Amino acid sequence: MTSKNEDNDIVKVDFAFKRLLAETVEGDLANFCYQCGACVGDCPAATYSEDFNPREIMLKVLYGLEDELLGSESVIWECTNCYACHERCPQQVKPVEIIISLKNMLAARGGAPDAVNKVITTFETTGRTVPYSPAIDKQRAKFGLKPLGDVPMDEIQALLDSTPEGEVT
Ligand code: SF4
Ligand code: SF4
Repeated sequence: MTSKNEDNDIVKVDFAFKRLLAETVEGDLANFCYQCGACVGDCPAATYSEDFNPREIMLKVLYGLEDELLGSESVIWECTNCYACHERCPQQVKPVEIIISLKNMLAARGGAPDAVNKVITTFETTGRTVPYSPAIDKQRAKFGLKPLGDVPMDEIQALLDSTPEGEVT
């Protein structure tokens, strides 16, 4: 089966990649996208980047355009995971969840940016995405918050051990 993209070029739908994505968490929801663009309005990444547009990403997912979604020019890391698109979508597509699945796929292929790899390493070794420093507790105290407690690394390690490689970012 073929279809046309926004430039009116004939594109071949990659059903194999669509099936692969459909196996991830919420990965099959893009099939309900009717391209209304409501997800774009409040998207901070789309506001500040000329290249990023969640509706276009969903269109590429509908076509199964793996090379564009996960290639070296992929824009998916520009998504801030803010979930505004999740709240706006009338079709319950949850674009952010699909983008997270794409990020996981790309990370599993060694395609995560250095900054993301650093966060992953910090989380795996400390249980936090940002390293602890006494300055954090000082700031928390200003707002009447308790100091950060110890991280239950044994529980986190058990969760990491039970998660298939590439499923955590
Ligand atoms: S808001 Fe939902 S249905 Fe509309 S373009 Fe975005 S993902 Fe598709
Ligand atoms: S989660 Fe990502 S795609 Fe969705 S609105 Fe936020 S930045 Fe945009």
